[in-house]
Amino acid sequence: MVIVMQAQATQNDVDIVTKKLVEAGLQYYLSQGEARTIIGVIGDEKSIAQLPVDVFPGVEKSIAVTESYKLVSREFRHEDTVIDVQGTKIGGRHLGIMAGPCAVESLDQLLEAASAVKRAGAQFLRGGAYKPRTSPYSFQGLEEKGLELLAEARERTGLKIVTEVLDSSAVDIVSQYADVLQIGTRNMQNFTLLKTVGKSDKPVLLKRGLAATISEWLNAAEYIMSEGNYNVILCERGIRTFETYTRNTLDLGAVAAVKSLSHLPVIVDPSHGTGHWKMVRPMARAAVAAGADGLIIEVHPNPAEALCDGNQSLTPENFSLLMDEVGAIAAITGKAIP
Ligand code: PEP
Ligand code: MN
Repeated sequence: MVIVMQAQATQNDVDIVTKKLVEAGLQYYLSQGEARTIIGVIGDEKSIAQLPVDVFPGVEKSIAVTESYKLVSREFRHEDTVIDVQGTKIGGRHLGIMAGPCAVESLDQLLEAASAVKRAGAQFLRGGAYKPRTSPYSFQGLEEKGLELLAEARERTGLKIVTEVLDSSAVDIVSQYADVLQIGTRNMQNFTLLKTVGKSDKPVLLKRGLAATISEWLNAAEYIMSEGNYNVILCERGIRTFETYTRNTLDLGAVAAVKSLSHLPVIVDPSHGTGHWKMVRPMARAAVAAGADGLIIEVHPNPAEALCDGNQSLTPENFSLLMDEVGAIAAITGKAIP
C-alpha cells in the first residue's frame, strides 16, 4: 500500500502515521518530496487491510497496489498525466514531438536542424551534448559547448531542449541548459542517477533499457518519482532481440501495455528502434496509431555527413512528411500536435 499525505500535512502527522504502522508490525519507506510526503507500506497484507489509514491525521489517500511500482501505476492515478514543460504540454490529448540531430556537432548544423524541425511542427529540439558511444574512439559529443549551442538554438527558435545526462555529477550542469533531462537506455538502471534526477525540478525522459522488461522500466520510473519528481516521460526505443536486420526491435506492444499499467506519458523513438531511416516514418505512424503520447526522431540537415547515427536520421524533407502523416493519425486517437 501507498499512503499519500496531504500537501499541508505536518511532520507530527507523518510521525503519528508511521508510529501506527510500526505498532501494527509493518515496515515503511518514507519519500519526502518537495510538495508532499509519500509512505510506502510493506508487510503482511491482512495487517495492512485492518488499518483505518484514511482517517489518520494528514492522510490524503491510501492506495492498495500489488505491483512493486506504485506511484507510476494507474491504480495510483487514473487520469493520464499531462506534463507541462515550460508551457509546452505532453500527455493526455497533447502529442509531443521531439526532433533534432543525434549529436550536437556545430552551431550551423544545430540551427539548421532546429529551424527545420520547428517549421515542420516539432515543439522540442533533441541533441546529445554528451554521447554514450559503444566505442570510446567514437565522437563523444561537444559536452558543455554543446549545451551552450542548444541554449542558443532555444533562444532563436523557442523550441524546448531535450538532452541526455550521463551521470549524477553532470545533472547540475545539464539542468542549467536543458528543459527535459534524458536518461539513455544504457543508464535505465543506474539507480544513483535515477535518484539524482528524482530530486531535480526538470522533467525526465526515461528511455527503456536495452534488455529491460516493462516491469523493470516502470520500476526505474518509480525510482525517479519516489524522490519527488513526478514529471517522468517514458520512451520506448527498441529492445535487443535475436533480430539483427534492425538495430533494435521496436516493441510497440509495450506502448499499449504501459498505457494501461501507468498514467505516465509514453513516447516512441523509431530512429533507435529501427536504425534505418526508411523505417522511421512507417514506425512513427504505427507508434501514434498505437496510442503513443509523442515521438523522438533523429533529423539531420545532411545525414550523409552526420558524426553519429546518420543511417537512421531523416532529412528535413522526410521529417516534414512524417509530421503531416502523424498529425492525421493522431486525430484518430484523440490527440493533436499543439
Ligand atoms: C539518444 O537518443 O541519443 C540515445 C543515445 O538513445 P538511446 O539511449 O535510446 O540509445
Ligand atoms: Mn542516436
